[in-house]
Amino acid sequence: MSAGPRAPGATMQAAVLHGRRDLRIERVPVPRPGPGEVLIEVTSVGVCGTDAAEWGNGPKLMPVEARHPVTGHHGPLIMGHEFAGRVVGIGAGVGEHWQGALVASCGAAPCGECAECTAGRSNVCRRYWAVGLHRDGALADYVTAPAASCVEVESLGIGEHEAALVQPMSIAVHAARRSGASAGDRVVVQGVGGVGAFLIHVLVALGAEVIAVDLDRARLDVAQQLGASRTIVGGSDTTAAELEQAWGDVIPVFFEVSGTARGLSLAVDVVPMGTTVVVVGIAKEPYPVDMARITVRELSLIGTNAMVRETDLTDAARLVAERAGRWDLVAPLPVPFSAVVRDALAVIADGRPPAIKTLVLPPSAV
Ligand SMILES: [Zn+2]
Ligand SMILES: [Zn+2]
Repeated sequence: MSAGPRAPGATMQAAVLHGRRDLRIERVPVPRPGPGEVLIEVTSVGVCGTDAAEWGNGPKLMPVEARHPVTGHHGPLIMGHEFAGRVVGIGAGVGEHWQGALVASCGAAPCGECAECTAGRSNVCRRYWAVGLHRDGALADYVTAPAASCVEVESLGIGEHEAALVQPMSIAVHAARRSGASAGDRVVVQGVGGVGAFLIHVLVALGAEVIAVDLDRARLDVAQQLGASRTIVGGSDTTAAELEQAWGDVIPVFFEVSGTARGLSLAVDVVPMGTTVVVVGIAKEPYPVDMARITVRELSLIGTNAMVRETDLTDAARLVAERAGRWDLVAPLPVPFSAVVRDALAVIADGRPPAIKTLVLPPSAV
């Protein structure tokens, strides 16, 4: 690599998904930035439940077995969709000021022209795709991404590892926006994981009063450190009564982040009439919900997906910056690239990750 990443024939190491439980570390060409894109030398990559599910129980979303209708990608795919790094090259039409910048990327690539995109809902664009999900991603030395899905973070005081937290933070920002929650609201966050923890931070910053629920007391401690004013141990005989007592006469906003049948049933059973329940956690399989309660209790059950990069990404960077240098309680030291299967994908797939958010170093950092 002495001739640099942009030299003809330059190669890099990458973690390439070939099929179920088949992630291979391979040498591949360094990608070239297309129009509107930047070439990023990766500094850290977040691994999440989506990655673990694609590796352990997929691939379903990643176009390994079938061609992606927009990107055209078909075949083995470099994983990594939550990433940060240093811009070392720019494509046509990209401003020179990006050169050398430390950036975080949400990897989103909506078309920018359809009715949804122009109405500010680019996350439901029918031509939406994302780096590391529908095209090669960042579990490598280098990745390319649209400049419009990157935000400069060094001037905000964000470090090169924690910068990869901006993408999951943008998911939380979007979920909070979808809910309509505002300052002074009482909100419940059920499930203090890789999105729930960030959601607590977003909601506390918004001025909401956060009640955190989780099965794990250590995670409730983290919730408290992030500013939750009350914590409740989930899954016990008294959880429902404690929740009702916690919101009192107020109609809360309920974020169900656990993604479990039990979690959503509890929410639907226990919330007062008129409550908005935001279903953030992705269910692993279909399960029954008591829809009669949704109707007669006039509940609003709403979904939330990805982020609107035009609005959520810069807010997410600002929110990560608010706690810069102090994210180790959520994301401890990144794991080495060579341990990506054992210490990231496998432990998340098994539901026992030691960290709330697992970060991975690029190959060159080992
Ligand atoms: Zn993710
Ligand atoms: Zn669009």
